[in-house]
Amino acid sequence: MKKTAKVNELYKQLKTGVEEFYSSDRWKEFLTVQARFHQYSFRNVLLIYMQCPHATRVAGFEDWKKFGRHVKRGETAIKILGPKHRREVDEKTGEENWVLNGFYQASVFDISQTGGEELPSLSYELSKDTPTLRRFYEMAKAISPAPIQEVTLKGSMKGSYNYTTQTISIKKGMAALQKCKTLIHEIAHAMLHTETDKPRELREVEAEGTAFVVLNYFGFDTSEYSFSYVAGWNGSAEHISKAGEAIQKAAVKLIDDLEAILNEKESAA
Ligand SMILES: [Zn+2]
Repeated sequence: MKKTAKVNELYKQLKTGVEEFYSSDRWKEFLTVQARFHQYSFRNVLLIYMQCPHATRVAGFEDWKKFGRHVKRGETAIKILGPKHRREVDEKTGEENWVLNGFYQASVFDISQTGGEELPSLSYELSKDTPTLRRFYEMAKAISPAPIQEVTLKGSMKGSYNYTTQTISIKKGMAALQKCKTLIHEIAHAMLHTETDKPRELREVEAEGTAFVVLNYFGFDTSEYSFSYVAGWNGSAEHISKAGEAIQKAAVKLIDDLEAILNEKESAA
């Protein structure tokens, strides 16, 4: 099959896979738990991010107990603003209204500051590890447009691309398939995005879609991780269509670069 045809085929597989994931039990279970977490305002999301950049799930001290978890000793609370309301009675109609009357400081904690029962997670870490995958990881490193460092990352975060310093971080100690997947995902961010050009959701669908197509092109299946990840970032059919052009362009470029290294190796052998 021609390269672009194969890439297109894999892109379609991504679409179907995510669609199917939306009717799975894992997705339903995830939504049930998600619904029990408070939705924070934009301002509070910023406050949380400034104090705890790796935060993924945040709740108050007592709320964590309801999830079967507890805040660990010595953890510093993340301070956010809770709305204060005042009751007002309309003189003419006698109607009662609650109006916003300033803010109070509230304390919350990220999941990484807690211990206890596991929460149902959307994506399970890929566990495959073979010499071939380890070699593939080295090849992927060689084609990266940004420098890579392997670091200790907290929480469920497996990698990140820093838009300011233009560097990639990969979590230490993961299996080779997960490392390859995460690295191609971050490389796609580095190739395709600036922090403000597109909404985060679209950037994540594009990056993960690219990683899925590239890894599966070379025969490494990441659907177990990629479908749920894309679903979690609003991978509706419409949204994936929006990301389609970027995914296919980035995937073809990365496949070309990887094949060039493979061919080099072959002719040297
Ligand atoms: Zn990402």
